[in-house]
Amino acid sequence: MRDDKCIFCKIIAGEIPSNTIYEDDDFKAMLDIDPATKGHTLIIPKNHYANLMELDDEAASKALLVAKKIATKMMGSLGCDGINMAQNNGIVAGQTVNHFHIHLIPRYKNDKDKTICGWSHQSFTADEMAEIKNTLSF
Ligand code: AMP
Ligand code: ZN
Repeated sequence: MRDDKCIFCKIIAGEIPSNTIYEDDDFKAMLDIDPATKGHTLIIPKNHYANLMELDDEAASKALLVAKKIATKMMGSLGCDGINMAQNNGIVAGQTVNHFHIHLIPRYKNDKDKTICGWSHQSFTADEMAEIKNTLSF
């Protein structure tokens, strides 16, 4: 499964170079070209899925195992103090490449930007929370 216009599909096909740190039959992990911190890594399935909702169940399960493997390596080898795992879906959520990917962002006590993966908070009334709960419940 490939999208000829997709930059990550081109990287997976070897048509665009990457700093690959991990590869198996189904996934590649590479350094982000515009890193938030030292070691910022992207985990990418070799098949093209636009986002989380399109990911097939097997790839979804494997993605977290690959993330765990790389996060463990990061903690042991980079000297980072923590890791953010982030995954954006849709333009409004900050997705710029429409090929599912997980960001692993090593965090350091001396990070310059404390807002990486941060967010502000909103308040909802009890009635609003009940309505939201009804809307989202399975
Ligand atoms: P997102 O905004 O969640 O879609 O993340 C896309 C990420 O891909 C960004 O952090 C970009 O810096 C990164 N990126 C885009 N092109 C490349 C590339 N050729 N090699 C490595 N990372 C890339
Ligand atoms: Zn793709």
